[in-house]
Amino acid sequence: MNYRLPTDVSPTHYDLTLLTDLTLHKFRGTVEVALKVVTDTSKIVLNVAELHLSDASVTVAGEEEAFVPVSQAIDSIDQRATFVYPCTFTAGSSLKLFIAFEGKLNESLIGYYEGTWEDGGQKKFYTVTQFEPTAARRAFPCWDEPSCKATFEMSMVSASDTVNLFNTPHQSFEYLESSFKSPISGKTRPIRVYANPSSIHQAKYTLGVTAKVLPVYEQVFDIEYPLPKLDTLVIEDMDAYAMENWGLITGRASHYLLDPNASNIQQKQAIVNIQFHEVAHMWFGNITTMEWWTYLYLNEGFATLMGELIIPGSGYLSTICVRIFISSFPRGFPEWNLDAAFIALHINDAMLLDNKLSSHPVEVDCPDANKINQIFDALSYSKAASVLRMLANHVGVDAFLKGVSVYLKSNLYGNSVTHDLWKGIEEATGFDSSNFMDAYISKPGFPVIKVTESEGIIHIVQARFLQKGTIDDTNTIWNIPLNLLTVDSDGKSSINKVVLKERSSFYAVNTEQLFKLNAGTFGYYRVMYTPERFRRIAIEAAKANSVLNTGDRLGLVQDAFALAGAQLMSLSDALELLTIFKDVRDYYVWSSISTALSNLINIWWEHAEVIDLLNEFRRILFKPIVSEIGYTYSADEDPDTSLLRTCAVINASQAKDEEVVNELRQRFKQYQATRDNSLIPEELQGPIYTSAVEFGGEEEYLAIKRIVDDPKTPTEKLAAIGAMCSVADRQSITSTIHYMTTEARDQDVPHFVLELMKNPKIKREFVAHFKENYDVLYEKFKDGFSISGLVQVFLSPLSCCQYLTSS
Ligand SMILES: [Zn+2]
Repeated sequence: MNYRLPTDVSPTHYDLTLLTDLTLHKFRGTVEVALKVVTDTSKIVLNVAELHLSDASVTVAGEEEAFVPVSQAIDSIDQRATFVYPCTFTAGSSLKLFIAFEGKLNESLIGYYEGTWEDGGQKKFYTVTQFEPTAARRAFPCWDEPSCKATFEMSMVSASDTVNLFNTPHQSFEYLESSFKSPISGKTRPIRVYANPSSIHQAKYTLGVTAKVLPVYEQVFDIEYPLPKLDTLVIEDMDAYAMENWGLITGRASHYLLDPNASNIQQKQAIVNIQFHEVAHMWFGNITTMEWWTYLYLNEGFATLMGELIIPGSGYLSTICVRIFISSFPRGFPEWNLDAAFIALHINDAMLLDNKLSSHPVEVDCPDANKINQIFDALSYSKAASVLRMLANHVGVDAFLKGVSVYLKSNLYGNSVTHDLWKGIEEATGFDSSNFMDAYISKPGFPVIKVTESEGIIHIVQARFLQKGTIDDTNTIWNIPLNLLTVDSDGKSSINKVVLKERSSFYAVNTEQLFKLNAGTFGYYRVMYTPERFRRIAIEAAKANSVLNTGDRLGLVQDAFALAGAQLMSLSDALELLTIFKDVRDYYVWSSISTALSNLINIWWEHAEVIDLLNEFRRILFKPIVSEIGYTYSADEDPDTSLLRTCAVINASQAKDEEVVNELRQRFKQYQATRDNSLIPEELQGPIYTSAVEFGGEEEYLAIKRIVDDPKTPTEKLAAIGAMCSVADRQSITSTIHYMTTEARDQDVPHFVLELMKNPKIKREFVAHFKENYDVLYEKFKDGFSISGLVQVFLSPLSCCQYLTSS
């Protein structure tokens, strides 16, 4: 079976007319597609799904006669329509294909679908598209593959009191507007954010960051943003978090809105991360598109690396903004320590998937269009971004970006494959990145290096790291940039960028002094030292004036728990590291500690005596931080302190520290009594609402439920859902599950499930509920991105062999 469409004809332009009827929940339209005939054919095959088609006539350029098909077939599994005509269209000729179609607007969250919003207590409908990867065919018949690039003209017909938004300018509506001046052409273009009237005031931050980042990308890539405007539409009903439609980004309210009265760093970072990522896609994905889904990482890995790290974190924003005189934006976000954020989130996420025998290469063979959703995973996003970050560090970020610009310019408005990227980087740097990167891109998994030492010499051996311990994968040798940090007798440190290219090698190192591999944690691999050496490095890393940085400390925590999980290190050595780090105050180190301990709790959840001990350990670690930095946030404090406070309060309250729980409950009580919420900072809504419900009664539960129904911000809604799911008594558990299945929006169901599965009181029962209702859930979410996450969440607590048979 060939999963790709035949290439006998190729579309060059679409004229699309779409009529939307929000009252009857239907749409219909016509599409006229200009086609170039590549090889002689009498057949036209294109994608379509869940649409009713009529007509399908073809005219040949310069001729009058319209040909109607002698036969037509719809394949609903492969989502294709095949039309056979009574004549042969000859190579080189131009055709016009005309098709009329109609479809239903449903709530599937993919294709052309409808969502709801409230206006003065009245339920109203809106429609929106979600096309990636294979759902454009649900809105109109088309060649729905990444290499079938074509131009579009669109007419939208709808009721006079509605607003239509498209990739290029159209009517106006209620929105916030700014503009940006192109540093390349000097042209000024509008930037807008659309949201429903009740929340539009919360969209200001998104507008600001969009206006600021756009000219920076232009400058870095040296390619002008080509469209006349860039809009962002903020909506409630979406399966993905955001979608980078060219000129019209769509995104979920929970990821795009910010209460203008709150200084919530976490939400600001989330908005910058997602919007910088989506705007990066205007170049990576829209201007230059991967040839097929096999190269999805060329879109997602780059958007992640550029949007979440290099542009916001490395000073590019600041230097370039200063250069082009954006006076309102004097700095980037260097104080956010995005490098540590990247290590904490992406490297670990990627390795958690990549440490399994079932992992797949970043460049993944992906023949079947129906399975494409499955590769929108941590390997296409986080692993690709992590290995590209490793390359950027190795050749230098500036040189790397020059190479990226060369790559984009050589593939402008075209399609690209991996080789094109290496060519661009090699042209700019002279470095053979193709050879250096090959195993990271074309092979599954990643290495662990084992370091043993004798006086003055270290011996390093690489092997594939697996969740259950290493294997000697003789087929794969990775090029490992060792980034060997050494310290001389004066205490001065230096980094040797030597690359391990063989299975094993020896290096001369003064073993009397501190040394550390993978300095700064730029490499995509784990390091295993002897227990003595590991302890020595940890003690050095914990010192206030250490030559080791946050990235090093973070890497040590993540490596230790991964090695302990694989039984390559004792768990008590890993736990001892946390006591060595107890006075460290880097937020990202603590966020990794929090993740490591949560993972342990997730494994041991059925053994109360182990959980009690782990909670006691959590209290010993986190309570002193709460005592030290308190509960009050201030707009001018260091962002790391704000984030650390949130992390420490959450951990201390989850570990049931009496004093912390009482403080949080007291704050909720006061809010209930006075309606004054000044003691509930947005950052602590989660732990405050959860403590109120977990240790409270029906009154608190009902109060939280009211917040879920009418939240002030999307962030508050998520916090309240978490609290609703943390209930202990039977009646409330039933009530929460009932609410989830009957009243919650589809897009919120995965969040309910995730939170309910954290509740040890109902985990087991809920797994049974999942088994019983799997067909219903599958039907609802099968075409979107949520289903694989749901399966993972439900299976994660099944940690004993007995479940293999009983569950
Ligand atoms: Zn993306």
